[in-house]
Amino acid sequence: MQSGGTPELAVDDTVPKLRGCFWMGEHRSVRITPLLLVLLATTLSPVVDAAPKWAIVIHGGAGVIERKELTAEQEAAYRAALTRAIGAGSDVLGKGGTALDAVEATIVLMEDDPLFNAGRGAVFTAEGRNELDASIMDGRTLSAGAVAGVTRTRHPISLARRVMEKSPHVMLVGAGADTYSREQGLEQVAPGWFYTEHRWESLEKTLKEKGLPIPAKPAGITSDPAKDVVHDEGKRGTVGVVALDANGNLAAGTSTGGMTAKRWGRVGDSPIIGAGTYAANSSCAVSGTGTGEYFIRLTVAREICALVEYQHMSLQAAADEVIHERLTALGGDGGIIAITPDGTMAWSFNSVGMYRARAADGQAVQVAIYKDER
Ligand code: ASP
Repeated sequence: MQSGGTPELAVDDTVPKLRGCFWMGEHRSVRITPLLLVLLATTLSPVVDAAPKWAIVIHGGAGVIERKELTAEQEAAYRAALTRAIGAGSDVLGKGGTALDAVEATIVLMEDDPLFNAGRGAVFTAEGRNELDASIMDGRTLSAGAVAGVTRTRHPISLARRVMEKSPHVMLVGAGADTYSREQGLEQVAPGWFYTEHRWESLEKTLKEKGLPIPAKPAGITSDPAKDVVHDEGKRGTVGVVALDANGNLAAGTSTGGMTAKRWGRVGDSPIIGAGTYAANSSCAVSGTGTGEYFIRLTVAREICALVEYQHMSLQAAADEVIHERLTALGGDGGIIAITPDGTMAWSFNSVGMYRARAADGQAVQVAIYKDER
């Protein structure tokens, strides 16, 4: 197995075929004899039981995350945060909520958590601002919404969902997206809401290395520097969620502050449908994290789902092909989480570590950070 790859939590390859039983489709004329029914009941029911009704995978960013770099306090904080987030998504799905609702609720929580580079805790631009990107996609309808460079919305993922559900567009950027957010009545915050001491220190360090001036701190800082246990996983990070709900629908969402000291309105892959986020019930749902420029060039998320759909590759094989072969060959770094309509879950990354967790109905929750964790 390749580094960062894990075996699928899988479930049998035949399971998706059971979602639409053959006598409901083109073979409507088949006569169902009692014997056939008995045969069907005995051969199919164990397989049906094996497929989870719902499943969810989350990431909190990939990067340089090594055991020796994280203090015990930092490691415990990240594991607790991942556990909280996967618990929130599982709750929604366990109560019969939609994959979209699970994706949004989980990301909302992670956007408020200063440990992650999304919402509060986002990295800073070279001008000392937080410009936030997010996207969401509905695997059932292929509807999608995205925002880039928003500065005042507490929950960019909710804004992306509004764009998807309430506007005729897929993507809004900058001041226009901020205006739309206000018009939609989404919660607005002072720029200082997103501030964390650690991300600011990381900005100062990067700007000094680049010989760029240090900007003034944003107005309205509320966070307590003493409580800052953020680990700098290499000037970036992102949060993402993919989910399958009990109705068999997939959704994916991603939210990020982008890269430390970004300039010129730089936008990465996270709000780009097909690059950082993708969901289609016909194949899979994916959310990525890593140096966005490479994910955009390779359309990483869509590429994985295309391999599943057209080459009939298993989810893990498709994810490893794109991350460990194509992304690595291009010099890119990062990882993805993914899920298929039969509840197969996968993650794959070529970075040193990735904050991640997964859960499915009837299965134990798994939380992991380092490469060697299964
Ligand atoms: N993909 C994000 C970006 O390029 C950053 C990350 O995931 O670490 O903006």
